[in-house]
Amino acid sequence: MDVLVLNCGSSSAKFAVIDPATSKEEVSGIAQRLGSPDASLDWKRNGEKASRPIPGAGHEAALRAVGELLNQLGLTEELVGIGHRVVHGGSKFSGSMAITPEVIAKVEECIPLGPLHNPPNLVGIRIAQELFPELPQVGVFDTAFHQTMPPVAYTYPVPHEWLETHGVRRYGFHGTSHRFVAKQALQLTGLSPENHRLVTAHLGNGCSCAAVRDGKSVDTTMGLTPLEGVMMGTRSGSIDPAIIGHISGALNKPADQILDALNKKAGLLGVSGLSNDMRTIEDAAAGGHERARLAFDLFCYILAKAIAALVVPLGRLDALVFTGGIGENSVAVRERTVAHLGFLGLTIDPQANATHGRSQHGRVTEEMRPQALVVPTNEELMIALDTAEIARRS
Ligand code: ADP
Repeated sequence: MDVLVLNCGSSSAKFAVIDPATSKEEVSGIAQRLGSPDASLDWKRNGEKASRPIPGAGHEAALRAVGELLNQLGLTEELVGIGHRVVHGGSKFSGSMAITPEVIAKVEECIPLGPLHNPPNLVGIRIAQELFPELPQVGVFDTAFHQTMPPVAYTYPVPHEWLETHGVRRYGFHGTSHRFVAKQALQLTGLSPENHRLVTAHLGNGCSCAAVRDGKSVDTTMGLTPLEGVMMGTRSGSIDPAIIGHISGALNKPADQILDALNKKAGLLGVSGLSNDMRTIEDAAAGGHERARLAFDLFCYILAKAIAALVVPLGRLDALVFTGGIGENSVAVRERTVAHLGFLGLTIDPQANATHGRSQHGRVTEEMRPQALVVPTNEELMIALDTAEIARRS
């Protein structure tokens, strides 16, 4: 019993076939550089990598190529459903949903909120429906987990009509990852599912933190869009909004170009002038590169401040969870961030941190409460589990 998980972005489509009962990934891959002459379909099966060119393929041709590949690998027979990652569900979805014409209409209504992500997500849904008309399709929304935030967490202090007329509020993202690692953390720590207070820090190219109280997100750092919050690979995170008008005037460039720079040329890349990749930043900082050192320091400082702020809605902290490429792998980021948070009672265990907590249920701090732990995220598995559950009920 397998689920096909699809994540269609603007120029790529990631896919995986997963058995949700065993978590086994039968195949995973990506169709990338879509629309260009060097578009390719790359996949991994049983640890072996393979690739085939699909020159000029757009989303439609690429997904057909994925369908053919799954046929060749004999993986279509076992499929019980298709799970789609959908980035922006606005206030319309508080959980994963079987795709119906009404659901598609609501995802379309959310396009103004997620103009870059929702259109390719919808293309993926349409083509998958054509390719596999007999299979149930399920939408899993990045925003859904944060729909439990109370008004005091999601309201911006701006004219209220902006909220009522234009949906200007905080939605939050990475919800599938925050939900997955929060659940895993309960198993690893033995905390009660009914009584726990966690901060989850998803640190990949995009970074966000969430406050999770008794299984529910009560606050998060990302907002209307994924630009808000902590410093990221290429995104600034929160800054004084007046900077946009100021620098737009100074450079004589329209606001949308400044916003584009805040999304693509800021963060680790902007401060270091070197790279958006934390590994490069760490190596350069160790080699004495001043701006790489500043980028690293700033990243951990801003992150620690955000984590501390999220303890306000929680009232106490039981565990801090690190996940995502940086959270799972960067010994230095965890060490520095936890050092800033000593006043919360967190003390790094250098040996455990050096091995990513692998031999002690993820724990990287000394054995006391609160603790910090590493929990590898698996958004595809979470999508597969939701899809199998909804397919079983339908
Ligand atoms: P995405 O958000 O695109 O899924 P990932 O979760 O894979 O990204 O995270 C990518 C980030 O993880 C990059 O900044 C990368 O440098 C960082 N990263 C991966 N491995 C390490 C490592 N060993 N040390 C420090 N950073 C790492």
